[in-house]
Amino acid sequence: MAVNLKLKIVESSESWRKELKNPYIDMGNMEGEAENDCVLCGKPSNKVHHRYSLHIVDGGGRIGGRGDEELIEMNDSGDMYWFSLGSSCAKKLEKAIKDLGLNPSSYIY
Ligand SMILES: [Zn+2]
Repeated sequence: MAVNLKLKIVESSESWRKELKNPYIDMGNMEGEAENDCVLCGKPSNKVHHRYSLHIVDGGGRIGGRGDEELIEMNDSGDMYWFSLGSSCAKKLEKAIKDLGLNPSSYIY
């Protein structure tokens, strides 16, 4: 299950989104289906370490950042809450977020 990360910063004209400390990031496909699978590659929960999680927003495939939880909960009807992230995927995602010019620790919990 290869993870092909193509991240994009989500642009939006909705006014509440301009108040986000960290813009939404679109991650493209998410393989994880069961609640505790790694959300990126879909590895089952017994094979991944549960050290990390992501705040999935906008109905799926997008992540929100730290400090924006309340704003997201109040405004985003597609708030999907928290999903697990395996540690090897966390490393890949960290690099990809850095490449966008954003801070990975603002997104990987
Ligand atoms: Zn994974």
